[in-house]
Amino acid sequence: MPTLFKSLAELLEKVESTKKRLEITGMTADFLKRLDAEEVEPAVSMVLGRALPKWSRKTLEVSWMTFSGVLQRITGFEWDVFREAFSGTGDVGAAVKSVFERTKVKKQVALLEKTLTINEVRRLLQAIAGSAGSGSREKKERLITALLSQASPAEAKYLAKIFVGEMRTGLHEGLMEQAVAKAFNAPLVTVQKASMVLGDIGEVAALLKNKGLEGLSQIDFQVFRPVKLMLAQTIDSASDALAEHGGRTAFEYKYDGARLQIHKRKKEVRVFSRRLTDATHSMPEIVEAIKANIKAKEVIVEGEVIAVNEIGHPIPFQHLMRRFKRIRKVQDMVKKIPVKLYLFDVLFLDGKSLIALPYLERRKILVKKAGGIPLTKQLITDKKKRAETFLKQAMDAGHEGLMAKKLDSDYTPGSRGKRWLKIKPVLEPLDLVITAAEYGYGRRHGWLSDYYLAARDPITREFLNVGKTFKGLTDAEMIEMTQRLKELAVREEHNKVKVLPKIVVEVAYNEIQKSRKYKCGMALRFARIRRIRDDKSPEDADTIEKVKEIYDRQFAKKGKYKAN
Ligand code: AMP
Repeated sequence: MPTLFKSLAELLEKVESTKKRLEITGMTADFLKRLDAEEVEPAVSMVLGRALPKWSRKTLEVSWMTFSGVLQRITGFEWDVFREAFSGTGDVGAAVKSVFERTKVKKQVALLEKTLTINEVRRLLQAIAGSAGSGSREKKERLITALLSQASPAEAKYLAKIFVGEMRTGLHEGLMEQAVAKAFNAPLVTVQKASMVLGDIGEVAALLKNKGLEGLSQIDFQVFRPVKLMLAQTIDSASDALAEHGGRTAFEYKYDGARLQIHKRKKEVRVFSRRLTDATHSMPEIVEAIKANIKAKEVIVEGEVIAVNEIGHPIPFQHLMRRFKRIRKVQDMVKKIPVKLYLFDVLFLDGKSLIALPYLERRKILVKKAGGIPLTKQLITDKKKRAETFLKQAMDAGHEGLMAKKLDSDYTPGSRGKRWLKIKPVLEPLDLVITAAEYGYGRRHGWLSDYYLAARDPITREFLNVGKTFKGLTDAEMIEMTQRLKELAVREEHNKVKVLPKIVVEVAYNEIQKSRKYKCGMALRFARIRRIRDDKSPEDADTIEKVKEIYDRQFAKKGKYKAN
C-alpha cells in the first residue's frame, strides 16, 4: 500500500510539538520502518525540507512570488489573512495552513478523488524541477496547482515548507541519522559515516532498506557526489592557534573567496559550491585548468577561488558572486571578472579515500597532483613571531587572514572542529539574515534600502533581530536587493516589508551593545553590510549565541585595556 503524504505531514506535526530528541527519533524511526522501499529516500528528503535527493542537479526554481500566487488563486484568500497568520507565528508553513483552514480550497474537479501519496508528491516535484525553457513558468504553476489543490491544510503546510526549502521542525540531519539507525537496526556510527561519505542521509536510508547493513559496507566516495565540507572554528590570534595545535601548526593564507569542491573522472569535471550545488557551468576556466593540470583518473580536490584584477590582485567578493549567478553569456564574465584558484586539499584519488590521512600527507599528494595550479600559501612553524609576520603578509596582500591546520589532522567532512582554525584580525563579521526592510527616502525612494538583520536561534529556530543598516550596498546591489526582497515579501506595513528569512549578508560593526530595542537584548553598533553571501543559506547564518560570545569577548579585551 503506497504511503499517504498525509502520514508524513502527521509525523511532522508531532515532531514539531515536542522538543524531546528521543521522542522525535523514535517516532521518525517508526514512520520510516513502515515505508515501501521506493518511498524511503523521498520521505527522508522531504522531512528534511528537500524536494529532491541531495545529489540531484535540479532544483524547483519556484520563487515565493510564484508559489504564493498559486496559493492565492486556489484558496482565494485575502493577503491580509495570510499576513495576519504569518505575523502570529513567523512561520510560512503555519500561515499557509491557517489560510487553508479558513478558506475553502477550490479543488479541481478532476483531481477531487485523488489522495496524495509520497510518491505522487515526489513525481510532481520532479516535474516542477524538470520544466525549463519557454512556458515553464505556466507549466510550473499548473503543477503546483495540481499539488496544492489535492492537499489538506496540514499537507499544504509542509508542501509550502518544502517549496521554501526550510522545515524548521527541529528534526535536523543529525537527528535523522539517529532515526535511520533506529529504523533499520544499524549502528549509529556506521550510518553517520555513510551519510558523511554519500552526503545524503536519504540515500543511506534507502540503501539500508534495500540492502541492509551489507549495502553500507560497500559505499565509498563517489566522484560527482559532493562530500560535506570540513569547517573551521574562529580563534583570536596566530599564537592562540599555535597553542591550540600543540606548539606547531601549518598556517595557510585565508583567501577571501568561495570554496570549491572539484570532482574529476577522466575528461569530465564538475565543480561544487560551498552549499554543494553544481557550479560547473559558471566556472569554465576552472574546469579547463583541472583537466589540463591534474593527472588522475578520478580525483576530488578542494580549493578557494577568488576574483582578481588584471594584475592578479584580489578584488572584492561581490564580483566573484556575480560569476556564480551568471547563467547566460558566461564567457563574457570569464573575461570581465577573471578568477584564480588556490587548491588546499585532496579527498579522493583513483578509487581511494584520503580523508583518514594526516593533513601533511594529503598536502604532499596534492603538491604532486596539482600540476601548475597554485596551492594555498603555507608556512609550517612553531615560532609566534614568524606566524605573525606571515599573517601581516597575508593581510598586506589583500587577503582575509590565516587558517591554521593541525598537522596530523584527518579531513572530517561536515564538522566544525578545532583542527582547522581561522584567524581574521578584525572584530569578526557576522553572517546575518535579512528579516525585513524599509523603503528609503530621497535618492533611495522606491528602494528597500534599510535592512533588519537577524541571527539564528538554533533552539527556537527563530531569527532574532540584532541590528539594522542602510550601509554597505552599492546602488545597483540595492536595486537588485529590492527586487529579491519583494519576491520574498510576506507582510507590508507602512514603510516596512517583512520577508521570508532567506538572504544572508556578512555584516561588519564596531561594537555589540546591550539594547532594549530588540528581543534578544543586544544590538550591533554601526552595522554595515560587507557583502551578500549567496553562497550561504539561512542555516549557515551565525547564531545568537555567537553574537553573545563576541559581546562577552569584547568586554574581556576592554577589561585588559583598562587594567593596563
Ligand atoms: P568562514 O567562511 O569564515 O567560515 O571561513 C572558512 C572558509 O575559508 C572555508 O570554507 C574556505 O571557503 C575559506 N578558505 C580560504 N582560504 C582557505 C584555506 N587556505 N584553507 C581552507 N579554507 C580556506
